[in-house]
Amino acid sequence: MGIIVQKYGGTSVGSLEKIKFVANKVAKRYHEGHDVAVVVSAMSGETDKLIRLAKELSPAPDPREMDVIVSTGEQVSVALLAMALKDLGVPARSLLGFQIGIRTDDTFMKARIVDIDTKTLKKAFAAKEVVVVAGFQGITDDMEITTLGRGGSDTSAVALAAVLGAELCEIYTDVDGVYTCDPNICDKARRLKKISYDEMLEMASLGAKVLQTRSVEFAKKFNVPILVKSTFTDEGGTLTTQEDSDMEKEVVSGITYDKNEAKITILGVQDKPGVAARIFTPLSEKNINVDMIIQNVSTDGKLADLSFTVTKTDFDKALTIVKQIAGEIGCRDVVGDPSIAKLSIVGVGMRSHAGVASKMFASLSKVGINIQMISTSEIKVSCVIDEKFIELGVRVLHEAFELDKPGAAV
Ligand code: ASP
Ligand code: MG
Repeated sequence: MGIIVQKYGGTSVGSLEKIKFVANKVAKRYHEGHDVAVVVSAMSGETDKLIRLAKELSPAPDPREMDVIVSTGEQVSVALLAMALKDLGVPARSLLGFQIGIRTDDTFMKARIVDIDTKTLKKAFAAKEVVVVAGFQGITDDMEITTLGRGGSDTSAVALAAVLGAELCEIYTDVDGVYTCDPNICDKARRLKKISYDEMLEMASLGAKVLQTRSVEFAKKFNVPILVKSTFTDEGGTLTTQEDSDMEKEVVSGITYDKNEAKITILGVQDKPGVAARIFTPLSEKNINVDMIIQNVSTDGKLADLSFTVTKTDFDKALTIVKQIAGEIGCRDVVGDPSIAKLSIVGVGMRSHAGVASKMFASLSKVGINIQMISTSEIKVSCVIDEKFIELGVRVLHEAFELDKPGAAV
């Protein structure tokens, strides 16, 4: 029997009852004869509570200390789950990131895993123990505690599955899979049975909240299939795996949206070499991720307008920086708009079908939605629109691309 990596999210371990329920699920796998590594998130709401506590004390808490505090949520849940397993007669051991050697770089609050030592885990498996691993956390070479960014336990789980050579990484959560769009917005949303790594990567980074984007990058790189399932029902599930010919039949597989976007426009930027670098370097130095960028052509060869998006969370910080640079390089004006959102369609079938983008634009225009910015890749088209039209936009596109009709989805 092979190694199984399971991950349980915060809502799956949100109470002692639920922890006992999860312990039974884990015990079942263990008794089948598998070596089981279970990655656990903090009990639901705990991470938020810790962040609130820190921010109540300090307006801009030190990132190093933030990681020391937020990593404690998982310390509680792993110990409780290990206790529950022992009460069921299953030998189990909770382990924190530093005890295993989940090595990360030193970017506090969004660290990246660089290596995982499998020695401790293999020793536990040899002793027939279930290992209950604290998700979300790691340790630097200088023994500093780090965390992997919100939702980081997914990445802990997939990375563990990769280094352990597990056949599958099971992600247990409060939804039974990945849907064609947010079921809370559109009642015609359907669960996808299977989705490719690339599509899941786009969906995750475009706003579908089921998996942390970084976890899908890992899964793709090391070819670890991810099965997203509900903790509390046996049916359903979505498998993220290598692309196959079935998946290409669907032109569009899913619609996603992201409300956590804001737009900044710089008017009258000089059209000459070095200006874009002058604007974007200070933003990246402050760890602000810029998403879409558009610059129009200057008709007179002198001045152009430049728009880009950042997360709403980074908006104020980005606007302050850009206003300062704009002053230094002499632009006409800087305008910020935090009330926008990004609406996207994703599908590997787009590669071989023409007219997908124009169908999206036409469908939005029919209901009077104005498109402010557009960006495309081989398998996605994203439009920035007014935030207040996002739900309407999702429903209109779901209908236009007939995602309610059975195809690759169940
Ligand atoms: N507890 C962390 C969070 O809430 C990590 C996770 O749940 O994956 O973001
Ligand atoms: Mg999560």
